[in-house]
Amino acid sequence: MGSDDGPTPTIGAMSETYYDSDRSDEFGFGGPRSTAGIQGICIHTTESGKSATATSSTADAVTSYQVRTRTGSYHVMVGVDGKRIRQNTDDWATWSTGNQGNNILLHLCVVGNAEQTRWEWLAQDTMLRAAASVVRYWSDRYDIPLRKVSVAELPGICGHDDTRVWGGTDHTDPGPGFPYDKLVDYAKGPTTAAQPDLVQQIVDQLRNPAGIGWPQFVGNTIGDALAALQTTLTTRLKTLVR
Ligand SMILES: [Zn+2]
Repeated sequence: MGSDDGPTPTIGAMSETYYDSDRSDEFGFGGPRSTAGIQGICIHTTESGKSATATSSTADAVTSYQVRTRTGSYHVMVGVDGKRIRQNTDDWATWSTGNQGNNILLHLCVVGNAEQTRWEWLAQDTMLRAAASVVRYWSDRYDIPLRKVSVAELPGICGHDDTRVWGGTDHTDPGPGFPYDKLVDYAKGPTTAAQPDLVQQIVDQLRNPAGIGWPQFVGNTIGDALAALQTTLTTRLKTLVR
């Protein structure tokens, strides 16, 4: 709940939204906060059973349960089908962890439980990619680095279990098997031009003779330098044999 932007927020050149359905009007608990204090993104699991046993309706069912029982809330919940449900606007303090974490973090929940292995998480590629799109959106909007951190290392991405050091919570989700590295990779998206450039440099060095040479080889590429070495050795060998 709160008075954030409409269903299709536009930030600079980015027009992508970060949710597929908006249920923020249903959550009547929590309270307003300033988005100026946001320092990171906190990952949670529904603890409603393993991801593999969930269906496309699980995330909405858990959301309805939370509304009905007032047992907790997040900013966004992502289902195993990749559907992103906005539970609360960013300018609303949710009931996700202890007070400190509720005040300064954005809370993202995925369907599954903390006992899942890395392999069980990686099998939920659709959900991980959808969660990463939310992470990326928040990262761009609030200048949050795309890296896994402890709460002492914020800003960044942490888990509910990391917030236990602040007190007020004893939860251990999303669990040791949760693939933060994959989430971060997906959030970062395709690699930038720096990587192909490096590959091209290596190719240029190995290729003969169109590449850019090394000063150590008097301007020769590695290929050229090896060829010159071979010529010299062959010549010397002939001298020795003679
Ligand atoms: Zn949690």
